[in-house]
Amino acid sequence: MSSLFTNERLLFTPATPNNDAIPLIFAFPNEYTVGITSLGYQVVWSTLAMREDLQVSRLFTDIREPLPRQPEILGFSVSWELDYVNILTLLESLDIPIRANHRHNNHPLVFGGGPVLTANPEPYADFFDVILLGDGENLLGDFIDAYKEVRNADRETKLKALAQVPGIYIPSLYEVEYHSLDGAIKSIKPISSEIPAVIQKQTYRGNILSASTVVTEKAAWENIFMVEVVRSCPEMCRFCLASYLTLPFRTASLEGSLIPAIEKGLAVTNRLGLLGASVTQHPEFNTLLDYISQRKYDDVRLSISSVRTNTVTEQLAQTLAKRDTKSLTIAVESGSERVRKIINKKLEQSDIIKAGINAKAGGLSGLKIYGMVGIPGEESEDLDATVTMMQDMKKAAPGLRLTFGCSTFVPKAHTPFQWYGVNKQAEKRLQFLQKNLKPKGIDFRPESYNWSIIQALLSRGDRRLSKLLELTRDFGDSLGSYKRAFKELKGQIPDLDFYVYQKWSSDQILPWNHLQGPLPQSTLLKHLNEAMNQFETMEKELEVLEC
Ligand code: SF4
Repeated sequence: MSSLFTNERLLFTPATPNNDAIPLIFAFPNEYTVGITSLGYQVVWSTLAMREDLQVSRLFTDIREPLPRQPEILGFSVSWELDYVNILTLLESLDIPIRANHRHNNHPLVFGGGPVLTANPEPYADFFDVILLGDGENLLGDFIDAYKEVRNADRETKLKALAQVPGIYIPSLYEVEYHSLDGAIKSIKPISSEIPAVIQKQTYRGNILSASTVVTEKAAWENIFMVEVVRSCPEMCRFCLASYLTLPFRTASLEGSLIPAIEKGLAVTNRLGLLGASVTQHPEFNTLLDYISQRKYDDVRLSISSVRTNTVTEQLAQTLAKRDTKSLTIAVESGSERVRKIINKKLEQSDIIKAGINAKAGGLSGLKIYGMVGIPGEESEDLDATVTMMQDMKKAAPGLRLTFGCSTFVPKAHTPFQWYGVNKQAEKRLQFLQKNLKPKGIDFRPESYNWSIIQALLSRGDRRLSKLLELTRDFGDSLGSYKRAFKELKGQIPDLDFYVYQKWSSDQILPWNHLQGPLPQSTLLKHLNEAMNQFETMEKELEVLEC
């Protein structure tokens, strides 16, 4: 067995599979160090490995456990869009056709889950037999139990039976019609009346959230023990997938979930990661900090995945600084109050500056501030406001190392901004910030604009893109390959502009219309209208001023 596996310290006890156990491969479509650092992968793997009715083997792109000769199920945990390339390569390496409709009874059922597929599985729909939508806590067990009922049936019977389980999506059982080959979607319908017309993403309602089930020095964050403090975020910034896709906001019980998990983890390592979209919004966050501040944990290195700007207190900064964290990351999105109002970011300018002052006073040496350009309704003046905000921060907290990380707005399914395209001015806006922040001693780190374009393509893509993804992989998987593949498929699928830049009408059938997220479309439209009212009001105010 690879030394990578022998370095693992397991925090659960795998079951001994029974004689009739189902041979299952659970894959992460990237290298071991990346996969084993994914809390989602760890938790699903251990949940499967604790069942004696399954014989589970793990597969990564670089290493694998001994694999069964005739796997019945092959699962993928997908947390990064571009890993689809590795999914296709792994399928080929196992002699499994990459398209679901080319598989036969003797091929395993290929399932996928994770944030990428829950948000919008459609570009990858043709590669999977089964997609699990939403939280795995109950869904995973429901899937395996339902599979056992039809284990000896043919593929078609299996798929039809699985389609009855809430949260299980069988893409091949839905037919998509288009207005034209390169036009919008006309309808998405199940192929027969026994198949549910809409699949509801599953939501786990308990207060025991995830924690690492394995600790290893070979993880990308060496020896880290991770605990999920909160799930989702109550703020609902209008573009934010981390909030909208996983609503409602849930918090782990301090006594029943967090403390027992941390005790178990810190018995084997001294590196602790607190995970969640808005960790500091846990109602008992300060008690948790006090708990971690005990003397017995003096040597613990603490990392926090995200901190809401107006919760950066001096106490938090001090605790982090004492625990080997040098800098903190906050997301403000824009220095413009106007844009923050549009996106529902309830943050005052003074909160932002105060975060910098507190970070410095608490002993941190750096602050990373995240922003975004191209947000719907953003004007070029709003960028001036971002530059001014950073200058004000520099003055208010002299000596604090400031970094401004900036991405481009990318529309995400199930958010109110799903109908907007990428702003064509975004690249110029990134350049503007670069030109104006660097000379002022602020480290500017833009995210690749080209990568944002691919992200937008995949986040609003439909199942016609599977052809494009296959071709792109053949052409070498670079940005140029996407362009070349679009050229090759001209007339057969819509162009890049349709998916990435166009503002879609709210009447348009979305590729994920049959996949129900946490909020109905009517609520998303209401939130969109509230945002649009913000810029309309502002435009009117501007007109009055100009008169
Ligand atoms: S505060 Fe952050 S995590 Fe929460 S909704 Fe806004 S952007 Fe998303």
